Amino acid sequence: MNLKTLKGLGEKNEKLLNSLNIKSIEDLIEHYPYRYIEYKIEDINQKENGEQVTVIGDVASQPITRYFRAKLNSLNFKINSRRKLINITLYNRAFMKNHITIGKTITVIGKYNEKKNQIVATNVIFNKIEEGKIESVYHLTQGINNKQMTKYIDNALKLKHEIIDYIPSEYQEKYKFLDKEKAIMSIHHPINIYSTKKAKLRLIYEELFVFMFKINYLKYVKTKEKNKTPRKIELIELQDFLGTLPFELTEDQKKAINEIHKDLTGNSRMNRLICGDVGSGKTIVGITAAYECYLSGYQTALMAPTEILSAQHYDNISNLLENTNMKVALLLGSTKKKEKDEIYRKLEEGEIDLLIGTHSLISDKVKFKNLGLVITDEQHRFGVHQRNSLRNKGDLPDILYMSATPIPRTYALTIYGDMDVSLIKTKPSGRKEIKTIIKSTKEIKDVLYMMLEEIKKSHQIYVVTPLIEETEKSELITVSELKDKLDIAFNSKIKISLLHGKLEKEEKEKVMKDFKDGKTKILVSTTVIEVGVDVPNTTMMVIFNAERFGLATLHQLRGRIGRNSFESTCILIGSKNNKRLKVLSESSDGFYITEKDFEMRKEGDLFGQRQSGEQSFKLADIKNDFNILLQAKVDSEEFLIKNIQNNFKNNEKYYKIINEIKSLD
Ligand code: ADP
Ligand code: MG
Repeated sequence: MNLKTLKGLGEKNEKLLNSLNIKSIEDLIEHYPYRYIEYKIEDINQKENGEQVTVIGDVASQPITRYFRAKLNSLNFKINSRRKLINITLYNRAFMKNHITIGKTITVIGKYNEKKNQIVATNVIFNKIEEGKIESVYHLTQGINNKQMTKYIDNALKLKHEIIDYIPSEYQEKYKFLDKEKAIMSIHHPINIYSTKKAKLRLIYEELFVFMFKINYLKYVKTKEKNKTPRKIELIELQDFLGTLPFELTEDQKKAINEIHKDLTGNSRMNRLICGDVGSGKTIVGITAAYECYLSGYQTALMAPTEILSAQHYDNISNLLENTNMKVALLLGSTKKKEKDEIYRKLEEGEIDLLIGTHSLISDKVKFKNLGLVITDEQHRFGVHQRNSLRNKGDLPDILYMSATPIPRTYALTIYGDMDVSLIKTKPSGRKEIKTIIKSTKEIKDVLYMMLEEIKKSHQIYVVTPLIEETEKSELITVSELKDKLDIAFNSKIKISLLHGKLEKEEKEKVMKDFKDGKTKILVSTTVIEVGVDVPNTTMMVIFNAERFGLATLHQLRGRIGRNSFESTCILIGSKNNKRLKVLSESSDGFYITEKDFEMRKEGDLFGQRQSGEQSFKLADIKNDFNILLQAKVDSEEFLIKNIQNNFKNNEKYYKIINEIKSLD
């Protein structure tokens, strides 16, 4: 229902409500309070510093007004409450001065500062207060106060609006939930502070039920809706291939390979995420899938986010596939036109079995003979559209994502609930824990010394600093400046090279090759080396301006070292008090780090990452309400299976929901 139907709402305030994401009467009704104030006269002597208090008293001094600057003023006066004089400060209410007269009995609500014997008041009430009254407190925006918001919501509640209840009746009965209308009423106007519990539970369950329903439906559409042709793969051939690998697979790698094998040979389309820390060995798992795909007569596309990473995948994968007849090609944006045309032709004629590349794979010119599998590395780097356009190049190709962001269980269900997930937690053997230390800029000499020691051991070093726009470079060091400084510090005796995104393709390749071959000892770089780059002889990483990077990025960067049996060290240059840097120095467990990362970020950002049409919840909190989420997941799955046969024809609400989701995909 349109907001304009609301009594007493002007155009200006309508816009203000819009800015709070309130665009309809329904939105307004679902604008739930985030806390309550209970009007209960309290004894200040029983209260502690910082607490919210409500006291009654007589005005004991004339108010004094102070003006600070435009729009900021204060009223200061004393009240006598239970034989105690208390200082009251009231901001931006200078206009109330004449109402506050000595001897008048008033009620003051605000925050108590024990040391100053002061209450910074948010509210002064002149009438007798209704003891026991509960006021709902809403999220507001400048220009609308809580009183107005309450009035708007009350008016909205009075309108004859349709309340859509998304909880199917069987679950409503099963859990004996409150009726939705009652729940909404009681959350806006609770009888007492504890009475909202039941209402909240019901509304949270409903939110999570709908959310999980959508995710389950997406999963259903992606994997089960149509049958694909099961791939025919002889296990013996697969085992032969695994036998040619230069290392023993870890338990989790084996498990993931088995799960993928089942998906490939099954009727349903694979939609699987391999989730494992940096260096956990996801590539080989992906390659094994590509090999199986090849054995069954189909082609594979592997998309990676950067040219460096694609080129490196190409090198490593070509090596791993050396003993097979599988034909691999590399397609980059910078590939010469003639070469590109050749690749396009071969691909269409089925002469290429595995095509590796950047998003250049999405180009209309790229046509496969029979694409059977799409692998996306570091999938979070691509948008939904990019991933979709690639998979549309085949007839229901299987989908495999590889992600180095280890998602904690709680979040995996919501963010990746529409996929099957294979976790790789065990690391290849022989890897040593990476030592991580924080050094301040003042300790740079120590750092240089440590670097020198490392070089003496014939090891190599990555030095990383953020890429900086000229305009904001003031206190930060750019990559090329950093290289110059290091050259001076080491007297140009150590070969240092420079890598950043602006270099020409040939130059980049040469820099990487020289470093890989050990011709250069230190590689100064921007985060282009973040994903996937693999030079095992590098045992030290020094990150300048480390505070400028996010936790996930720092963890990814650090994963570039510790790739052999030597001791590796990561030096973060920044403040020792920085929370993120501290987390990194404490742990190298990606799952722990991601958990912390999520805690430090707002949940809103998290959901922004997925475009499944859902941003955030009104009442639910994934972490606190995890058990409700689990139940909602099970219930909505059951509900989906029961009703999918007739496509929700008997259930208008859910029929609408699935059509909305369809238009998203
Ligand atoms: P990521 O999961 O970060 O993509 P990679 O697949 O690049 O990791 O693997 C990192 C390195 O570990 C590579 O050099 C790879 O060859 C090696 N590797 C992978 N699996 C194993 C294993 N089971 N044992 C030893 N080394 C392995
Ligand atoms: Mg990788």
